[in-house]
Amino acid sequence: MPEMPEIQAHAERLTDRYRGRTLAKFVPFNFTALKTALPRPDDAYGHELVGVGRRGKYLLLEFGDTTFVVHLMQGGRLLDDPKLSVKPRGGQARFLFDPIDHDGADVASDALLLTAQGKERRAGVWCTTTATMLTSPPLDKLGPEAATITADELAKLFAANSMRVHGFLRDQRMVAGIGRRLSNEICHRARISPFANTRKLGADGAALVVQATQECIAEGLAFERSRTDMSSSKDRPSAVHARTGEPCDVCGDAIRAVEYSGYTVNYCPTCQTGGKILADNTTSKFLK
Ligand SMILES: [Zn+2]
Repeated sequence: MPEMPEIQAHAERLTDRYRGRTLAKFVPFNFTALKTALPRPDDAYGHELVGVGRRGKYLLLEFGDTTFVVHLMQGGRLLDDPKLSVKPRGGQARFLFDPIDHDGADVASDALLLTAQGKERRAGVWCTTTATMLTSPPLDKLGPEAATITADELAKLFAANSMRVHGFLRDQRMVAGIGRRLSNEICHRARISPFANTRKLGADGAALVVQATQECIAEGLAFERSRTDMSSSKDRPSAVHARTGEPCDVCGDAIRAVEYSGYTVNYCPTCQTGGKILADNTTSKFLK
């Protein structure tokens, strides 16, 4: 799933290409694509795209008083849509702009198409009032932004929520924007066990995690901004994520994995657990 760096760079590219375009119509292709009844998408018609912002893993398409909040979920994308097919493959919804003269140049198309992969947890759109969107679903429950949370703020959240740090980092209500890959990378960068208890990490642990988070996000952003489209997860550079069995670049130890049904926790024993091998999740042995 794309995380903060991928979504942020995508928002910046969309802003560059579509800012100032006037929305003609929002077209959902099925009953579940639009998650809200009010305000109506029509309220945004005739208004220019002010820009595409981001909160957590959500894209925010702002048309004046109305903002469309878009979540790409696992394999969703928001793409140039030059073909305007009647039934686009994987299509969830379309933002149709008033046409402009493209002069044959490589500029944006007259529509953006939201696509999804698979049948479960599909990409979706919430139509919100710009002034109140941050305190309305789906953004109202999000924790502070991962890139800007301070060590003090994180220390308070650590103290109030006793969790494994890997699970904490992936929980959007705690900090927003981090997923499975960044959780693995941040724990490795901070040299802490992914299973470390947040309450026990304390203020010193929070400071380490904040610094690691900022570094990992900055590197992810630099990589993602160098691209013309969103990377797939296998393209993204990583120190431990998806590198089970490979040598750690820092110490040479073999990177280990703890498998869960939906994801893998990767870590380096020498860098992160004092050489201790973390117990595999018991249920996953039966699922494999
Ligand atoms: Zn290592």
